[in-house]
Amino acid sequence: MTLAKKLFVKTYGCQMNVYDSARMADVLTPLGYAPADGPEDADMVILNTCHIREKAAEKVFSELGRLKRLQAAKAAQGSRMILAVAGCVAQAEGEEILRRAPFVDIVLGPQTYHRLPEMVAQAARAGGAVLDTEFPPEPKFDFLPDARAEGSSAFLSVQEGCDKFCTFCVVPYTRGAEYSRPAAAVLAEATRLAEQGVCELTLLGQNVNGWHGGEGWGLGRLIRAIARIDGIERIRYTTSHPRDMQDDLIAAHAELPELMPFLHLPVQSGSDRILSAMNRGHDREAYIRLAQRLKAAQPDLALSSDFIVGFPGETDADFADSLALVREVGFVQTYSFKYSPRPGTPAAAMERQVPEPVKEARLAELQTLLLEQTNVFNRSCIGREMRVLLDRTGRHAGQVLGRSPYMQPVHVKAAAHLIGQVVPIRITALHPNSLEGVPV
Ligand code: SF4
Repeated sequence: MTLAKKLFVKTYGCQMNVYDSARMADVLTPLGYAPADGPEDADMVILNTCHIREKAAEKVFSELGRLKRLQAAKAAQGSRMILAVAGCVAQAEGEEILRRAPFVDIVLGPQTYHRLPEMVAQAARAGGAVLDTEFPPEPKFDFLPDARAEGSSAFLSVQEGCDKFCTFCVVPYTRGAEYSRPAAAVLAEATRLAEQGVCELTLLGQNVNGWHGGEGWGLGRLIRAIARIDGIERIRYTTSHPRDMQDDLIAAHAELPELMPFLHLPVQSGSDRILSAMNRGHDREAYIRLAQRLKAAQPDLALSSDFIVGFPGETDADFADSLALVREVGFVQTYSFKYSPRPGTPAAAMERQVPEPVKEARLAELQTLLLEQTNVFNRSCIGREMRVLLDRTGRHAGQVLGRSPYMQPVHVKAAAHLIGQVVPIRITALHPNSLEGVPV
């Protein structure tokens, strides 16, 4: 009999990591691992790391310090906790992790999750630490089990890696070259998720709109095929690159009611000089024209974006261009950050790094403008009727929570049996972080 073991996965970063964490738990299920509530109850802990934000590696090392104490306490009671570090920090700093934290049993990069059962077996034999940060020739998706539905909304990874080499970003080094899963595999997984009750799919990829399936298959065609699957009512995709926004995908926004009118389309800066230094491969005018084409195709479309302020060499005039682009395009939800150098990236070695107080002042000014735009959009939703996917019970009796087509949280007084359905809701009020509505 296999004794039940407990697994705790702590996930940092983006939705791709959330998806990857679930897949790692899936490949360990046949080994007898069931979810643990926290690291204290776990026989194995995986930190699934992200290298995008500042001081990512240091945060991982301080978490490892806490886990080391737990691991030692378990060992004193005669039991063992296997400790694994996965994800982009593992890929970028694998050797360093094993040097500074020799109590870590497994370090694995994002492309080797399918080999995790072998690594666990190896670690359990106590033969020293296992390091696997290769980019193996076999795509991991061929070996990973399908995503399992855990509600009415699911992520589905269709693309991974990046060939764009933006000068500030580590992803091309940690995730490897762009890879698209075959259309047949994606459609089969989407169908199985729909059969398990999923009605909303979010297609994931570092450059999701760079997905291509050969023979005329681009993301627009893939989305059309997914929209024909019984039970799929809502489709989203993230994260897109402005350079890969094909005509057919823009047309899909006009044609498909299933394709949600909300698009995250990072621009990073509104200055041509900075866009060029970032190696983004497009200029400000191209982004503005693209936003106009998208809104012409789908007048309800709301855009979200990412901005970096204080990129090396950014002047006041460059920053003013970013503010002007925000005013011209209009965004409903935005992520903005101060530039911070990532070791090994070209931008980290650039001259004219912007002083920290200047970055802080620019970020505050940009965020004030972006917040104003978000508030204006949220206020404009009051009185509107929109289809909301109700997906869980709220904190108060009789309350159900859901998401609007624009990803806003909505709480509704409604019967719990409506959970899992897309329901027409009239928005009646605005709260600091959510909308309130009533079923129509
Ligand atoms: S497109 Fe640029 S920012 Fe996005 S993952 Fe690739 S290199 Fe990073």
